[in-house]
Amino acid sequence: MSVNRVAVIGSGPSGAYTAQLLTEESEAPVEVDVFDRLPTPFGLVRYGVAPDHPRVKSITTSFADVFEETPGLRFLGNVRIGADLGIDELRSHYDAVVFANGAPLDRRLGIPGEDLSGVSAVREFVSWYQGHPDQDPDAFILDGTRAVVVGLGNVALDAARMLVRETEDLRRTDIPEHIVTAFSESTIDEVVVIGRRGPAFARFTNKEFIELLEVESTDVLIDPADLVLDASQQAQLDSDPAARRLFATFQKAAERGSLGRAKRIRFIFDRTPAEFLGDEKVTGLRLVRTSDPSKSEVLDVDLALRSVGYLGEPFAGLPFDDRTGTIPHRDSRVVDGDEVVPGVYVAGWIKRGPNGVVGTNRKCALETVTSILEDFAGRDRGPRGTDAAAVDALLRSRGVEVVDWRAWRDIEAAEIAEGEAAGRERVKLHRRDDLLRAAAGAELVGARAGV
Ligand code: NAP
Repeated sequence: MSVNRVAVIGSGPSGAYTAQLLTEESEAPVEVDVFDRLPTPFGLVRYGVAPDHPRVKSITTSFADVFEETPGLRFLGNVRIGADLGIDELRSHYDAVVFANGAPLDRRLGIPGEDLSGVSAVREFVSWYQGHPDQDPDAFILDGTRAVVVGLGNVALDAARMLVRETEDLRRTDIPEHIVTAFSESTIDEVVVIGRRGPAFARFTNKEFIELLEVESTDVLIDPADLVLDASQQAQLDSDPAARRLFATFQKAAERGSLGRAKRIRFIFDRTPAEFLGDEKVTGLRLVRTSDPSKSEVLDVDLALRSVGYLGEPFAGLPFDDRTGTIPHRDSRVVDGDEVVPGVYVAGWIKRGPNGVVGTNRKCALETVTSILEDFAGRDRGPRGTDAAAVDALLRSRGVEVVDWRAWRDIEAAEIAEGEAAGRERVKLHRRDDLLRAAAGAELVGARAGV
C-alpha cells in the first residue's frame, strides 16, 4: 500500500489536531509533516493562551505525546512557507496540503488617532508579554495610570487581567523575566474595558469574568445603571442562557462594588470609540454613546489596546476572502470561485474565522481530515516520486535551519534551565537567535550578556 503524505502549515491547535487525527483516522499509512514559521510548536497555545491559564496550556502535553509516539509524524519548525518552500513545491511533494496558519493580523477601529504612540492592537501586547520572538521586547512601557481595552471578548479580559496581576502570580508563569519586571514596575492602576453594545452582548465567558472577580488586588466595577436593559438586550438574555449567566454575574459585581482595593478594572458599555487624542502619544479617548451619539465624553488614557478581533492573512497563490479574512472552502477543501483547488485544505481560524476555544479546533480539524481521507480513498495514485528525504534535501540546499522535534526538546530543556536560574519553573526564550542556539544544543544560561 503506498503512503499518503500530508503537509500541515501551522502547529497551533488546529494544525496539531489535524496531524493527530490524520494519523489516528487514516487506515492507510500516512506521513505527516507539520511546518511552522517559528522555531517552536503549538502556535496560539504557546503565544496566545494566557500564561496564567496553565490548565488550557497543558494541551501541549497531549500534542507532544502524539509527536513523540507517532511514526511518520514530524515537526519542521523555522520553515517559512512561501519563502523557504513554495506552495507549488509543497503540492508536488505532498498528496495533501492543509493550511492551519491561524489569523495573525488584527482588525482596526478605523478612527482618527489610531496610529498614535500608546495605541496598540491587543495582539501586539499579548505577543509582547508572551515573549513572541517577532515582538520588540521593549514595545510596552507601563507608565501612566490608566489603560483602556476596547472590546468585550475573552482576549480583552486576558489583557485586562494581565495588567493587574500580582508579580508573584506572574512568576508562576513562563513569561520572560523582563516582562515580569515590566509588569511589576507598572504604575497603571485602572483598566477600563469598553463595550460598544450593552452587557447582554458581551462575548467573553462567565468563567473568565468570574476569574477576574477573584484577582485579589483588584476591584471590578460595573455601574448598576449600565445593567438596566433595553428591549434588544432583554431579547438577547431571553434567547441565550450563557448571556443570562454572565449577566447575573455582572449584577453580583455591581452589588459588590468597590472593596477599596489598590487597582480597578472598570467596565463601561454602550460606548463607541470615536477618536484617540494626543500629539504623538495618546492622552485621551473620545467616546460617544452608541444609543445616543449626541452624548460624548473624553477619558484620559495612557495606554490603549484595541481588542476587536483577529484577521487571517492572504497567502500568495491561494484565494482569499477579504471580508471574512479567511481562505474560502467547501467542506474544508479550498475553492477558487466554484472550483476546488485539488489537494489543498484548510483548518482552524484561517478556515472559519477567529472564534471558539482551543477544543473547538478538534471538531474543525476532524471535518478537514474527513474530507482529506475521502479524497484519498476516491483516488488512484501511481507510485510516488518523492519522500521526506527529498523535502529535507531541498530545505538543506536552501540553508534553512530546520528545528525538528528533538531540537524543540532542546529548547524546552534550555527554558527549564532558564527557569531554574531565575527560581522559576520555566522561562520562555524570547529571542529567535536564542531559540535557534538552544535548538542547536548550545548552553544558554549565563552565556548571554545581561543574564
Ligand atoms: P471576540 O470574542 O470576537 O470579541 C471581539 C469584541 O470586539 C466584541 O466585543 C466586539 O463587539 C468588539 N468589536 C468588534 N469591532 C468593534 C468596533 N469597531 N468597536 C468596538 N468594539 C468592537 O474576539 P476575541 O476576544 O479576539 O476572541 C477570539 C476568540 O478566542 C473567541 O472565540 C474567544 O472566546 C477565544 N478566546 C478564548 C479564551 C478563553 O477561553 N479563555 C481566551 C482568549 C480568546 P460586538 O459584539 O459588538 O461585535
